[in-house]
Amino acid sequence: MKFESFSRETVILDPSKEMARKVIPSEIRLDPLTGRTARICHFMALKWEKPDFDRLVAGTEKWCPFCPDKVLEVTPCFPQDIIAEGRMQLDDKVLFPNIAPYDSLGAVATLGSIHYIPMTQIEPRRIADSFALALKFFRRLDEIDHPESVYHLINWNYMPASGSSLIHPHLQVFASAFAPNLMREELAAARKYMETNGTNYWDDYSAAEIENGERYLSRIGRINWFSAYAPMGVAGDILAVFEDVCSTRELTEADLLDIADGLVRAMRAYDKMGIYNFNMNLFPGAREDNFTRLHLVFSPRTFFNQALGTPDIGALRNLYNESLCMSFPEDINQTLKPFYQDK
Ligand SMILES: [Zn+2]
Repeated sequence: MKFESFSRETVILDPSKEMARKVIPSEIRLDPLTGRTARICHFMALKWEKPDFDRLVAGTEKWCPFCPDKVLEVTPCFPQDIIAEGRMQLDDKVLFPNIAPYDSLGAVATLGSIHYIPMTQIEPRRIADSFALALKFFRRLDEIDHPESVYHLINWNYMPASGSSLIHPHLQVFASAFAPNLMREELAAARKYMETNGTNYWDDYSAAEIENGERYLSRIGRINWFSAYAPMGVAGDILAVFEDVCSTRELTEADLLDIADGLVRAMRAYDKMGIYNFNMNLFPGAREDNFTRLHLVFSPRTFFNQALGTPDIGALRNLYNESLCMSFPEDINQTLKPFYQDK
């Protein structure tokens, strides 16, 4: 397992020190699977101001389609051949078609009836149940042999800086025969890795990261949690890798609670830095893709300038897919670790 990096130095003449020479370090890291590069630079304290949440949220429930007084009135239903009852429900969580689908099978699953749940107060059971509802949808697609039921994807955009246009917590749930770009690159690279080395990349990666310990967080059930070596988020990413699980089809109820447990720890840890938005994606393989392992990425999101609404993604990331992380992942790991330590 190669964890490659290239150090760089920028020399400037510093106007605050009578134009004395100043050296600014940075680092380019290669993702050990795909070779995708990430820049560790713009070093700053990972500390942001949180907004006035009462003001931010006030009134948004009035037009929220996911609130309990509207969700069964205004959300669409699936055709009978896909879901006979139109929508799926689990307690107060509801799954229905996404009116802005990216593919033929797109759904949204709410995390229940509460309009705004602060990031540190989302209960693990609520997350596990929402995932269970998504898995019920995927199982249904498998039962009817739907041709798009190949990759089962769950995305979570939480709060506005993540790309969410609604405050009400919800998951994007979709199935597709077309893996999204990064997932497709990872799957191709993991397949090649197995052909070359005869072993599973993710098993080797987990073993190497547990052994070196610099980015390891903890083990919860059969999931190992790490700080990503070459993160996509400006405040690092958390990467959770399953043992012996390739696709969502092999997940058990205990696994869902373990995912939720790890995620709420991530949320509590990043909340301390003033972060209150995140993305989370599952990266599954197709059925019997034994060269990969199901993993998920939790990526904290923020604004570079809250007053202006400046997002943390600019041209570099959007058009080159080159990411910036403003602290070394190993240092971020030290901040996150206490939140995982009792595991
Ligand atoms: Zn709502």
